[in-house]
Amino acid sequence: MNTTVDRILEVDRLAKRYSNGTLAIEDITLDVKRGEFVAIVGPSGAGKTTLLKTICALLTPSAGQVTLDGKVISSPPPEMVLVFQDYARSLFPWLTVTGNVSFPLRKKHLPADEKKKLIDEAIRAVGLDKFPAHYPWQLSGGMQQRVAIARAVAFRPEIMLLDEPFASVDALTRADLEDLTLRLRQEFGITMLLVTHDIDEAVYLSDRVFVLSPPPSHVVAEVAIPLARPRNQEATRSDARFLELRNSIHRMIGRRRDDPVVPVVPMAAEPAFLIRGESAI
Ligand code: ADP
Repeated sequence: MNTTVDRILEVDRLAKRYSNGTLAIEDITLDVKRGEFVAIVGPSGAGKTTLLKTICALLTPSAGQVTLDGKVISSPPPEMVLVFQDYARSLFPWLTVTGNVSFPLRKKHLPADEKKKLIDEAIRAVGLDKFPAHYPWQLSGGMQQRVAIARAVAFRPEIMLLDEPFASVDALTRADLEDLTLRLRQEFGITMLLVTHDIDEAVYLSDRVFVLSPPPSHVVAEVAIPLARPRNQEATRSDARFLELRNSIHRMIGRRRDDPVVPVVPMAAEPAFLIRGESAI
């Protein structure tokens, strides 16, 4: 293990063109360090879902490559799980909470007691230990998304890919699920890679944020989020640096690499948190 910069995931000049000719992502280079929370933000249609599916090899890249722990990914790796936005379609309605959470573990061929431990721990960690025998349709939307997250946690992934996972729930539930995700990262040491169009959410959760251009997408900026942890919905979101970061990213969204820098407020010194890209300030 390289202890100086331990990159678990490297995405190198990735492109994806669909068979109908649509070039969804043009040229994406980014990396994720072990234990880090990284978000990718971009406008709707920027190729965020395409990017995540290509990263975990559900789609084949048209150019470029993805490496996990230094090995090029050519089929979905067991160290990676993907949590979708649409829990209603990702859960099996005919299986209980326990049934849904245990489903992917059948591939792991574990002894029954070890499997039960993983399932019970995951269900407890998402706060559903009073509902193991419930069916998805007996649970609220937020609880169903907790089942989807528990299923991912039970698999004990090294890295969790999250595709707009909180977009289908109300604002309060969304905040609960955000904090749950931060707790799970802490408790199980899972590296997180989130795609979202919600800039505030990306800043609240992350250590770094990559900003995508409109499609065909490339990275226009890489922004460090030096806000203290543990994060807190009220304190973090009202911190002046939180507002500065979300406003800066907001101004970068919609830009392309070759766009001229247009000052929208008097030119300030380059913000310290901008690692890559041009400030739109
Ligand atoms: P986002 O997640 O940022 O909203 P997507 O990755 O869903 O973006 O889509 C990026 C582009 O790729 C869009 O133009 C979309 O219409 C197109 N696209 C997505 N899936 C397919 C597909 N299976 N076949 C052809 N084009 C697709």
